[in-house]
Amino acid sequence: FLTLNNLKKSFGATQVVHDFNMAIDKGEFISFLGPSGCGKTTVLRMVAGFETPSAGSIVVDGKDQTNLKPNQRNIGMVFQAYALFPNMNVFDNVAFGLKISGMSKADIGTRVKEMLALIHLEHLAERYPYQLSGGQQQRVALARALAPKPQVLLLDEPLSALDAKIRVSLREEIRQIQQKLGITTVFVTHDQEEALSISDRIVVMNAGKADQIGTPFEIYNRPTTRFVASFVGTLN
Ligand code: ATP
Repeated sequence: FLTLNNLKKSFGATQVVHDFNMAIDKGEFISFLGPSGCGKTTVLRMVAGFETPSAGSIVVDGKDQTNLKPNQRNIGMVFQAYALFPNMNVFDNVAFGLKISGMSKADIGTRVKEMLALIHLEHLAERYPYQLSGGQQQRVALARALAPKPQVLLLDEPLSALDAKIRVSLREEIRQIQQKLGITTVFVTHDQEEALSISDRIVVMNAGKADQIGTPFEIYNRPTTRFVASFVGTLN
């Protein structure tokens, strides 16, 4: 459903993504797991259209998207933190993508309510981002990303700015919502436990390459490289 073919990316003389290949099924929850600087975010930004690949292609549902601008792609994205519009209340944040798509006011109202119900924040529609906890802000960011019914959801370390307890509950909530909607999702994290606990499959990345792709069970129990074994903590 989402295919990345021989993706490469260089910044100046430095190549940060090397021949990255991946075929993601419709409705799959995939994590890109790897240490800081391994190129996870760069791959995600290429899928979103914020970076242009130096080579390779990105295909979604049979359509080549490699040269489309971000707003021409049907993709929703949640960033690490603090990405809500600070001058808009929760309702208007979630409505943002719907307004630019030209939806009627009544339909926007219905859809925003549906999204706020999904994240259990109907009662906070009038609040501004600074009046919300970090976890609530990320749930609003998720609702905003999902409101226009994207084909693909990209999550770039959405939990990393939150404290440990909220991180665990929110990751479970994200997984539940993802399964309920059946939306194809790529989740970037450097946290092994996080990736192992919520993914259908994990891509372990090392220095701009996919070192191993497998289910959490395979990654944990049958690491195929020393790097994967040491990164997931099965080799000390
Ligand atoms: P982190 O978890 O720290 O974000 P990451 O695995 O997501 O790490 P990337 O952000 O994709 O890694 O970065 C990969 C490499 O590319 C890093 O060495 C980074 O410094 C470099 N890089 C990323 N963006 C740029 C840019 N716009 N210009 C130059 N170098 C960049």
